Amino acid sequence: MKDIIIVGAGPAGLTAAIELKRLDPGNRIIILEKSSEVGGHLVSGAILQKEEYYKYISKYPLNYNTIITNESLWRLTKNSYYNLTRFLPDEYRNKGNILVDIGDVCKQLAKEAIKIGIEIHTCCGVVGFLNYKDSIIGLTLTDGTKIRSDYVIVAEGACGTLTEKILRHYNVKINKTYALGIREERRYKDDETKNNNVGSIYHTVGWPSDDNLNGGFVYFYEDRVVIGYVTYLNYSNSYINPYNEFEKVKSHPKVSELIKNTNKVKYSAKLIAINKMDGPTIACFHGCTIIGCALGLLDSMKLKGLHNAIISGRMVAEKYISVSTKMITNKIDHFTDIDIINDLKTSKQTSSIFQRFGSILSMLYRSINKIMFPLLLKFNFDFRNKWFNYNKKPPRDWNIIDNKENSLMFSDINYGKDSHIDVNDEIRHKIYDLKLNNKMSNRLCPAGVYKWIKESKHYVFKIRHSNCLQCKACLVKTPGNTIDWRVCKNGNGPNFITEKL
Ligand SMILES: Cc1cc2nc3c(=O)[nH]c(=O)nc-3n(C[C@H](O)[C@H](O)[C@H](O)COP(=O)(O)OP(=O)(O)OC[C@H]3O[C@@H](n4cnc5c(N)ncnc54)[C@H](O)[C@@H]3O)c2cc1C
Ligand code: SF4
Repeated sequence: MKDIIIVGAGPAGLTAAIELKRLDPGNRIIILEKSSEVGGHLVSGAILQKEEYYKYISKYPLNYNTIITNESLWRLTKNSYYNLTRFLPDEYRNKGNILVDIGDVCKQLAKEAIKIGIEIHTCCGVVGFLNYKDSIIGLTLTDGTKIRSDYVIVAEGACGTLTEKILRHYNVKINKTYALGIREERRYKDDETKNNNVGSIYHTVGWPSDDNLNGGFVYFYEDRVVIGYVTYLNYSNSYINPYNEFEKVKSHPKVSELIKNTNKVKYSAKLIAINKMDGPTIACFHGCTIIGCALGLLDSMKLKGLHNAIISGRMVAEKYISVSTKMITNKIDHFTDIDIINDLKTSKQTSSIFQRFGSILSMLYRSINKIMFPLLLKFNFDFRNKWFNYNKKPPRDWNIIDNKENSLMFSDINYGKDSHIDVNDEIRHKIYDLKLNNKMSNRLCPAGVYKWIKESKHYVFKIRHSNCLQCKACLVKTPGNTIDWRVCKNGNGPNFITEKL
């Protein structure tokens, strides 16, 4: 019997656990999750591809399972829009796919996992590894407890603490890019105002962003509406404020029409890791494997994040059991799922063109690409972005009515006195954040955790850790990498679960 510990009860971790137990019921499988309940720290749209749904999730009854019947793609201008839906290539269409709730998906998977004997421990953040020579032999928890294990599977999602440690330790680089998704759930004020949009999804590009990759979404579930906005974090204008961009989209005349007669019931934000095509589906090291969105498996054009996380979870289980166990535990090796890699390749090409030339051209490109697909796969359209060039151009003024503090009241946040955030180099932080970028961290954080306050002629940096939504945007975007953000104890943090009415 082997003790296998999985870090993270997201779709990747739960699928890995269930598959491992099914393939060899003799193994003891333990999942450690930092949030106070399964799904509590998860944020997602979320569209799930039909095939994967029927192969896997449909076995477990979901509370939210709305079939997408109608889909639209709008290019917004300041006061109007162009409807681009007809240009959308078939492979990016979602009609027939399922609108699910990621918290709900994970809760149902967790129920199944517990039923077949998997142990799930919530409020268990993991902060480090136990090493023997060059191999990982266990984990350290936030309270200092050390746990030995035969094998570790890391399924932490985007920008995981352990993931980054392993990659640094073994000097492995995985090519990822990050975006910040900010999202709200809204409920109808009363039954009469409920509209007939159930099953409809709307995606927007264009205004207010100059970057063609950024965009919004509005999804209509049976009892609620989910609206969100995704800002790619490779922006070079330090005045961008992702929260304000989200609010601007909400106030657009066409978009505000969609959410009229609804009230906000939940506010959340989370990092999205997007693979740059050549990465592995699972990455194996000595004594441990990284899976899921921790490797950046999201296909940003097809919106296949859950799907790829589930495949990655299944793949690690199959490899662990079928490939000689020695091979997977004693060797640094990466395995790729060919379908995921092909998907990511085409999406990456399209999104590069999307970013550079705009939506219509990229969609035309996709249509041509469909015919010339095998040939075009050989080309790599990688239009590199400038990561950071200290460009200081304040955006147009905008009157933001619903501020961050108001929104945070809908995030069910709970923290103790101890802060999980510090600055690791104050002088560097002052130079990069305050002097060079005019308090960029204030604008970046969707929860208003950071504030520069003037006290007797000097600016002092204040951290309100108890506002933190655990989105991790500050970890990847704060200039100079001066923020030290740690996994919280005792399940502290937000709780993004909303119960079905
Ligand atoms: C706004 C937004 C919209 C999205 N829309 C879609 C969509 O429409 N369709 C789609 O398919 N995908 C979508 N995604 C992406 C999708 O949510 C992810 O791809 C998917 O959740 C990845 O699964 P995962 O299991 O790898 O990681 P996650 O779902 O992130 O799960 C990781 C789990 O690990 C836990 N954890 C992390 N670190 C630790 C630690 N150190 N110790 C203990 N526990 C830890 C976390 O709390 C979490 O529960 C969206 C994402 C966002 C943010
Ligand atoms: S402090 Fe960092 S992790 Fe917390 S909400 Fe702000 S940007 Fe996100």
